Amino acid sequence: MILPGATLGVLGGGQLGRMFTLAAKVMGYQVVVLDPDPASPAGQIADIHLKADYRDAVALLRMGSLCDAVTTEFENVPAASLDMLAKHCLVAPSPQAMAIAQDRLAEKTRAREFGCDTAPFANIEQAADLAQAWAQIGAPALLKTRRLGYDGKGQVRVNSLAELVAAFAELGHAPCLLEGFLPLEREISVVLARNQHDEMAFFPLAENQHRHGILDISMVPARVSDEITQAAQRMAAGLAHGLDYVGVMAVEFFILANGRIVFNEMAPRPHNSGHYTLDACATDQFQQQVRALCDLPLGDPRLLTPVVMVNLLGDAWNPEPRWDVLLNNPGVQLHLYGKAEARPGRKMGHYNCLAMSLDEALAIALKTRSELGIGED
Ligand code: AMP
Repeated sequence: MILPGATLGVLGGGQLGRMFTLAAKVMGYQVVVLDPDPASPAGQIADIHLKADYRDAVALLRMGSLCDAVTTEFENVPAASLDMLAKHCLVAPSPQAMAIAQDRLAEKTRAREFGCDTAPFANIEQAADLAQAWAQIGAPALLKTRRLGYDGKGQVRVNSLAELVAAFAELGHAPCLLEGFLPLEREISVVLARNQHDEMAFFPLAENQHRHGILDISMVPARVSDEITQAAQRMAAGLAHGLDYVGVMAVEFFILANGRIVFNEMAPRPHNSGHYTLDACATDQFQQQVRALCDLPLGDPRLLTPVVMVNLLGDAWNPEPRWDVLLNNPGVQLHLYGKAEARPGRKMGHYNCLAMSLDEALAIALKTRSELGIGED
């Protein structure tokens, strides 16, 4: 066990790194953040902020020698950097698990292997693969880049082979997956923690709604049956176990009208759809990340109150939202990430609405949103 007083590191200084840093510091750890941005949200509050590139060997060596354990807050950390760190300190999740989460083909292939259902998909390495992939999947379909896609970026909906050819060019001829477009009834996510002894703790399922490809709100408890909850948790557990995953991970699933549960993707870290845990659970996902990393017993993930989480994107900074109006609602908890510059689509913060029922929490979420003047487009 790595006990309080030790030093933990996080690769990446965004909001997830910031909330990890806060949780670790509350528990009495020192925190080192590596992020090239001098104003990064996590760097602002870390004990030491190493302002260097993620491949910088000198910075990685320093981090490895300062830290007892290192984790990451984004999936695209170079594998070589994780390998380098692993020579000096504990690194979790493993470089192998990270590599799988970085590539949609590897991710979906392993998910199937470990018992998850997925949308039909075909691999496209080059233009010569397009016709075969189209013959296999057909309309309607989604073309997604295998790497570096997030928040709906790097994906195009296509309805014909001609559209597929154009979309592949639009995505720069990068390796892609062509996926069957499914009629979604709901989207849910399972956030779980697993430690080195294969113990797992599941946060309650979140039901997620997106706007323009970006998570907009999460509702908890999700409006799905106990059977769906258990089946989704079983699938997520199979994946975590199969990957020998250590840390917090999120698994996104689609629910179809016939009750089919379809794996979409995994995130090898805490997740935006788990931010509700900060105010609504006995243990939040960042404290759980600290616990899993340090091989402490996992905390109680129990839900204490119904909750709706609303994301605050840079689009709402026009001018900066009226925080006094938002804070007038006693059941609302505000979280801001310390980002100086607001840009459209940039995640600036979120707020959690707590109430005695989900309907009431949803009503507060929608009321505060309209008070803030965040549009319904
Ligand atoms: P992703 O980047 O894979 O998380 O996809 C972003 C969003 O696109 C998802 O949250 C869904 O709303 C939608 N989506 C992705 N894949 C599919 C699919 N195969 N069928 C229908 N909708 C999808």
